[in-house]
Amino acid sequence: MKIIAIGRNYAAHAKELGNEIPAEPIIFHKPQSAILKNKMPFVIPAFDDRIEYEVELILKICRNGKNIKIEDAQNYYKSIGLGIDFTARDVQQKCKENGWPWEIAKSFDGSAPISPFYPLSEFDDIHNLPFSLKKNGETVQTGNSNQMIFSFERLISYISIYFTLNIGDIIFTGTPTGVGQVKEGDFLEAFIANQSMLTCMVKLPNEPKDKSIYQKREPA
Ligand code: ZN
Repeated sequence: MKIIAIGRNYAAHAKELGNEIPAEPIIFHKPQSAILKNKMPFVIPAFDDRIEYEVELILKICRNGKNIKIEDAQNYYKSIGLGIDFTARDVQQKCKENGWPWEIAKSFDGSAPISPFYPLSEFDDIHNLPFSLKKNGETVQTGNSNQMIFSFERLISYISIYFTLNIGDIIFTGTPTGVGQVKEGDFLEAFIANQSMLTCMVKLPNEPKDKSIYQKREPA
């Protein structure tokens, strides 16, 4: 399976990071090793202590497909959940400044906590689906699928131009405004409407933090 993630799918979030609103979806991947199961702790990586949370609605693909038409895309997912797209923001900033791909800022181990998936039938209207993230009991992000620049169907159609979608693939559909940093001891809890979907405790690594691992790196 693969994880495909979308950047800048909410206008207010694109603005808070100083980015333009894209004309087409911005796509990146996370590897399977990025997955963190519900309730597992997230360990701040040694290469960057400026890690930011991004809560996102996630879809699980239920059919194989390529060049999927927008009007057929609803048949390619039957369940939905929540994920956190952890981002190493200093690393990402440095990559952006240098014009490098920012893969390592988004795709490192543990960067994708995911909730269990629930059937679409459990929700009144998935195109008007409120969700939120609490940090230490305080709401830090709220969003709604009706604020997405590109709908679930448009994303599936667009992604499948480039990548065959396979059963079990997961799509992170972008984060709303309000992203922020995590610190050791933070407790994150993500909700769809009032239903708790995902929890994650933030820990420090066992090894001492060493940012030089990243800073000494020479471009290939
Ligand atoms: Zn994201």
